[in-house]
Amino acid sequence: MQIDTDQIKFKFPGLIYIPEKKRFTGYINVEGNDRYYIDLHLPEKIYHFPKVFETDERIPRKFDRHVNNDNSLCFTTQAKAQIYLKSKPPKLSSFIGEVVVPYLNHNSYYEIHKEYKEEFSHGIMGIIEGYFDILKIKDLKRITQLLIDRVNGKKLRLFYTCYCGENNFKKCNGGAHVRAYRDFRLIEKETLIFDLNNCFFPLINELKKKKTFQMDSIQ
Ligand SMILES: [Zn+2]
Ligand SMILES: [Zn+2]
Repeated sequence: MQIDTDQIKFKFPGLIYIPEKKRFTGYINVEGNDRYYIDLHLPEKIYHFPKVFETDERIPRKFDRHVNNDNSLCFTTQAKAQIYLKSKPPKLSSFIGEVVVPYLNHNSYYEIHKEYKEEFSHGIMGIIEGYFDILKIKDLKRITQLLIDRVNGKKLRLFYTCYCGENNFKKCNGGAHVRAYRDFRLIEKETLIFDLNNCFFPLINELKKKKTFQMDSIQ
């Protein structure tokens, strides 16, 4: 991610860059004449979001408030972050404007209404819902199979049946599933393996125990 310090200074004058610590610190203004105090740590790995901490302890460090275990703010899932970072590599100033500010606005909304405007789960279900959103289907079995296939290096060809099982892949949903699959291909294998092991397989095992899920077709 390009660190466009001049743009940041211009758009978010409350933030100060501390080069030796590789972080920005200070405040950013949000909707409603309001501001939040944050620390933003530049990412160590490519295709990872910067870690952002809210330093005023205004946002409760609670699971349902999208705060991670290390107290950094949970903007989205790792899979979605990679799609965002790879589809159009953003500058840091756009990341703050497009990701951090909306998150903080959602938090302000929560403070007033005691709920989020758009509800995304946090944790395992949040990660799985993220894939529903990326792939535009809500079929746990098919999505699990698709992740396994990607990990094994199997590619879906345009003349195959779509991953949703409905149509010819190329024409499915007016091309929407081809586009969704293109995004899906941007997710790193490492992340797919992590999500399979930590989210999909545990959830499937849970559902199997409750006998609400048939696993037979997953290989
Ligand atoms: Zn979250
Ligand atoms: Zn389809």
